[in-house]
Amino acid sequence: MTQTNMLDVTDRPIRYLRLSLTEACQMRCVYCRPAFLTGARGGGGLAPKEIGSMVRHLVTEHGLTKVRLTGGDPTARADLLDIIRQVSRIQGVGDLAMTTNGLTLARHAADYAAAGLGRVNISLDSLDRKRFADMTGVDGMDRVIAGIDTALIAGLTPVKINTVVLRDGNLADLPALVDFAASRQVEVRFIELMPMGPLGDQWADRYVPASVMRNRLESVVHCWEPLPQGSDSALRYRVTLRDGRSACIGFITPMSCNFCSACNRLRITSDGSVYPCLMDQPRGSIMHAVRPRLDTQRFDRVLEQALQDKAPEHPTTGFAVMTQIGG
Ligand code: SAM
Repeated sequence: MTQTNMLDVTDRPIRYLRLSLTEACQMRCVYCRPAFLTGARGGGGLAPKEIGSMVRHLVTEHGLTKVRLTGGDPTARADLLDIIRQVSRIQGVGDLAMTTNGLTLARHAADYAAAGLGRVNISLDSLDRKRFADMTGVDGMDRVIAGIDTALIAGLTPVKINTVVLRDGNLADLPALVDFAASRQVEVRFIELMPMGPLGDQWADRYVPASVMRNRLESVVHCWEPLPQGSDSALRYRVTLRDGRSACIGFITPMSCNFCSACNRLRITSDGSVYPCLMDQPRGSIMHAVRPRLDTQRFDRVLEQALQDKAPEHPTTGFAVMTQIGG
């Protein structure tokens, strides 16, 4: 079979699907989740078989190589193991990852690994229990740390920690998070706040550029050695700490130094909406192209049209809510 690359309007090849499995999430992160989603449930949306046939088509005919399951929180889907199985058995998915709040990983990480999940990114905004609860709406820091440790034991590696950094929030916690990364040998990635979601209108006051985060770490970091950029365009460093240990730190800089020119992503949400860009509006829906069974021509037409609308650079403010699209 001949493969045709999916190219967007500026000829960026699409290799990476970020699939939001649900709007539901157990957390209420202040920068992510608006109050109107409080009651969102985990049911409905694309079914495991629909996801499997869609991903198989993208891999075999369009050269997709990477899939990330996100949300909401993917663990809110009762059929998550089935979804992982459907996708992991597709030859050609070289990288199957999941982004999660980590609350239930201590119970389920081994099952996810056995079903074929490759690795996890876990959100951890603070190592101060009260600040963690204030930022996420859940007194769950210990559960998340247990989840990180269980993911490491289950081999869902490399485990990466995601921390959204807020002025008047967790900026002071960065040294402790680097210490944590050094002690567990996990990579911690500090994320610049994006002007969308509940803090969209306070963005200018709460945003911390990566340069300021880096300054904040000078008290604990002795030496910064740049590493090759990650597939997610993080600016990565192997650092030597002042106490001699080493750690891996990434900065995800959508605002101070956007990585749009290298963007190879396509986003599809649980209701079938297609988002060519995280900060742009949805451009069509694939739902009628996958139900009752995959109509590949119709599916390709929806994606081709959406990719013609993929902006060369992300807009300056987001239209949608990250927890719906899957950050
Ligand atoms: N529930 C999962 C989690 O907690 O990681 C996955 C979904 S969450 C929307 C995915 C990522 O988006 C997380 O790393 C989160 O921190 C990030 N995120 C959410 N809102 C953001 C914002 N306004 N700016 C930057 N990153 C954001």
